[in-house]
Amino acid sequence: MVQDDVFKKLVSHCKEYGFVFQSSEIYDGLGAVYDYGQMGVELKNNLKKYWWDSMVMLNENIVGIDSAIFMHPTIWKASGHVDAFNDPLIDNRDSKKRYRADVLIEEHLAKQDEKIDKEVQKATKRFGDTFDEKMYRETNPRVLRYQQERDEIHARFVKAMNDNDLNEMRQIIVDCGIVCPISGSRDWTEVRQFNLMFSTEMGSTADGAMKVYLRPETAQGIFVNFLNVQKTGRMKVPFGIAQIGKAFRNEIVARQFIFRTREFEQMEMQFFVTPGEELEWFEYWKNRRMQWHQALGFGAEKYRFHDHDKLAHYANAATDIEYEMPFGFKEVEGIHSRTGFDLSQHEQFSGKKMQYYDPELGKSYIPYVVETSIGLDRMFLSVMAASYREETLEGGETRVLLKLPPTLAPVKLAVLPLVRKDGLPEKARAIVDELKFSFACQYDEKDSIGKRYRRQDAIGTPYCVTIDHQTLKDDTVTVRDRDTMEQERVPINALQQFIAERTDMSQLLKQLTH
Ligand code: ATP
Repeated sequence: MVQDDVFKKLVSHCKEYGFVFQSSEIYDGLGAVYDYGQMGVELKNNLKKYWWDSMVMLNENIVGIDSAIFMHPTIWKASGHVDAFNDPLIDNRDSKKRYRADVLIEEHLAKQDEKIDKEVQKATKRFGDTFDEKMYRETNPRVLRYQQERDEIHARFVKAMNDNDLNEMRQIIVDCGIVCPISGSRDWTEVRQFNLMFSTEMGSTADGAMKVYLRPETAQGIFVNFLNVQKTGRMKVPFGIAQIGKAFRNEIVARQFIFRTREFEQMEMQFFVTPGEELEWFEYWKNRRMQWHQALGFGAEKYRFHDHDKLAHYANAATDIEYEMPFGFKEVEGIHSRTGFDLSQHEQFSGKKMQYYDPELGKSYIPYVVETSIGLDRMFLSVMAASYREETLEGGETRVLLKLPPTLAPVKLAVLPLVRKDGLPEKARAIVDELKFSFACQYDEKDSIGKRYRRQDAIGTPYCVTIDHQTLKDDTVTVRDRDTMEQERVPINALQQFIAERTDMSQLLKQLTH
C-alpha cells in the first residue's frame, strides 16, 4: 500500500475506534488541536507509565515533579524564549500557504539524499554480488555531482541558520527551485521570524494584569525547582528530575495529524552532572533512550539518530531519535547537552544562587544538564503507525489489527460469553468482576463471536477469553491470542497469572538493562 494511504487509514482508524478526535469537531475543529478518546487516553496513560517507571522507578537517583503550566514571565526571558523562540516562516504568494523555511530546505535535502540512494540501488541490482558501494559512491560521476550539490546547499543552510541570515535562507529556497507543494509556484515572500509562544493575561486589570505565557516546554519548571528538589530530596549530583506535562506552541505549519500540534504533552528529564562529565552522560542517555524505544519490539531498523546541524549556542551536543513514520523518518525525541546555561541564566535573572554544594569536591558549582525530551503525542503516533496492520486471512477475509505491545494495549483482555444464554453471561461477568481489579477488561456479548474478535483486534486487545459450555463443566476457558489467533484452554483460576505474565509493565521494564 502507498504510504500516504496507510497514513490516511491510520487517521480514520484512530477516529473510528475512539483513539483520537479532532478538537471542537462539531464547530468544524480547531487547527492542530486534538482530543484523545476512550481508547487513546488508555494508550497514552500506558505510554506515560512506561516512561515514568523507566525513569523514576528504575533509577534511584531520578525523582519526578509536576510543576504548574503558568510560570513567572521572567523565566521565559531568562530561558531565551521571549527573544529567540522563533521559527523562520515564508509565505507562498499564490497559494497563500505559510511554511517553515528551514523545513522546506531540509525536505529538499532529504530528496537529494533519496536521489543518490536510488542511483546506488540501481547499481546494486545491475552489478550484483561484485558491487562495491563505497567505491561507487566515491567515483560514479552522477552520484558525485548530486552529492556535491547537496553538500553545497547543506553547508549554506547550516551557515544561514547559525548566522540567523533570513535573506540567505530565502535565497537557498530560490536557488534550489523549491516550489510550493499546493500551488506549484516559486513566488515566495521574504523570510520572517515568528515567536511560537502563546500568551495570556493573569489577574484583573484593576490589579494590573500581567502578561504570562503558556509554557512552550516543561523543562523550565524543572530548572527553577532544581534546588527545592535537591535539598528536600537530599539528592547528590549526578541526579535527575523527570516531568510529564502539557506544552503549547503556536506552530506555523501544523499538519500531519498529532505529529505537530499546538497543544501537546512532553516527557522530559533533566539530568544534573558535574561540569566536564556531560559528554559521557550524553552518550549514556543516548543509548538508554534508544534502548527504551527498541524494547517495544517494532524493529531496530525503524529508528535512527540524527545529530543536529545547528547547535543552540548553549548546547555542546544534541541528537534526535527519529522513527520511520509513514511520511518518513521524523524526530520523536531530543537528547541535548545544555551545559550550565539554564541554571546560570536563572541565577542571573532571579538574583538567587542556583549552585550545588558538592560534598565530595568540597565546593559549590552550577551543574551541567543533559536532557531527554520526548513528545508523548509523537510517541503515540509512532506506536499506532507501527502497530496498524491489515491482514488477509485464509479464505480471503480481511482483518484490521493493532499489534500493540500487550503492556501498552488499552484493554488487556475481553471476556466474551459464546452465547447470551445457558448461564454463560453470568459466568463471564464473574470473571470480569474478579479480574477488573488487576487489568483493564471489557465485557462483550453482542454479535457473533467472530465479529467480537474483530472489534478487539481493531483496538489491539491482546487476549480474548471466551466462556463456552465446557466452562460450565470444568471451569476452563479459551484464551485467544490476538496475533496468532490461536486458542488454548486455561483454567479460570490460572487466568490472572496467565494475563499478568504477558501484559504486566514489569515485562517491558525488565528489558531495560543498564
Ligand atoms: P521540531 O523540530 O519538530 O519542531 P523541536 O526540535 O522544536 O521539534 P524540542 O523542542 O526538542 O522539539 O521538543 C522535544 C520534543 O517535543 C520533540 O522531540 C517532539 O517529540 C515534541 N514536540 C515538539 N513540538 C511539538 C509539537 N508541536 N507537537 C507535538 N510534539 C512536539
